[in-house]
Amino acid sequence: MSDNSLRVVWVYPDLLSTYGDQGNVLLVERRAQQRGLGVQRVDVRSDQPIPTSGDIYLIGGGEDRPQRLAAERLIRDGGLNRAVDNGAIVFSVCAGYQIIGKEFVNDLGERQEGLGLLDVVSTRGEAERCVGDVLADIDSSLGLPQLTGFENHQGVTHLGPEARPFARVHFGQGNGTGDGTEGAWHDTVFGTYMHGPVLARNPLIADHLIKLALDVNALPPTNDRWYEALRQERIAAATAPA
Ligand code: GLN
Repeated sequence: MSDNSLRVVWVYPDLLSTYGDQGNVLLVERRAQQRGLGVQRVDVRSDQPIPTSGDIYLIGGGEDRPQRLAAERLIRDGGLNRAVDNGAIVFSVCAGYQIIGKEFVNDLGERQEGLGLLDVVSTRGEAERCVGDVLADIDSSLGLPQLTGFENHQGVTHLGPEARPFARVHFGQGNGTGDGTEGAWHDTVFGTYMHGPVLARNPLIADHLIKLALDVNALPPTNDRWYEALRQERIAAATAPA
């Protein structure tokens, strides 16, 4: 934090952010502003350097080819890894989640190096693409309510010992390994397969990211309840018989 404002960095909007993942940026901005915080939002295109002074970095999902290009450029740039070394927070979705892991299989069918910010490795699933609404329980140590989201991915993500599952699914596939895990996290770095946009469906996750950035245990309450109706509707959709 500098000058009492939260620096929110949206990584490579020109390559990544499918299925409305831009909404995650808007949610973090809004939830911070509702607490009287100033927000400096920085949108970093893939031909620009990643600033290392951000508080929260948001990375969206993407198609397979832009995913390959984004990973190459982020590794060449090095700024995101330096920011995390300085304590920055990363919240990444789908292709973004795969990119911040150690390795993923790219559009050419090759194993490609990721940023290594999470101890996960992604492969291409042999089974059908994972598509649909998801309902999951978030790691209880994070103190967050049920996770609702929408998944659409071919990738399957395996967690290593340094990564904790972000959630356990009731409905849907999540990491796609068949072990019921969804997403991964370690310290200030989070990855999930959930679109939705996921922070619109789960604004308390955005609050969690802001709390981490401010290094506080609680934020002033908001009387904003619009999202409860959205949550109930999507949870009902996930649990409805096919
Ligand atoms: N291309 C990746 C996959 O299919 C990610 C897709 C996405 O971000 N929606 O696994």
